[in-house]
Amino acid sequence: MKRVMTKLLNLPSVIVGDSKETKETVILSVRLDKKTAHCPHCGQTSHRLHQNKSHLVRDLPMGDREVIMKVSRRRFKCKNCQKPFYF
Ligand SMILES: [Zn+2]
Repeated sequence: MKRVMTKLLNLPSVIVGDSKETKETVILSVRLDKKTAHCPHCGQTSHRLHQNKSHLVRDLPMGDREVIMKVSRRRFKCKNCQKPFYF
């Protein structure tokens, strides 16, 4: 089930954690399994900081239930341009 979901998301670095289901909604907790990311400003590889932020994304409905993804984003800081960014 979890593997299928991860595959469905079509992103190799996305991991599906908990899922909560009710009659009307399915809430999936997803996170990105990345320790490094490329800075969107200069392309330099940056390491993540220990700050997480999560936001809710409404996905396509599955049958007659609404799918909501709780996405944890990780904060990175670029050494080159000193700008933080989320990935
Ligand atoms: Zn940069």
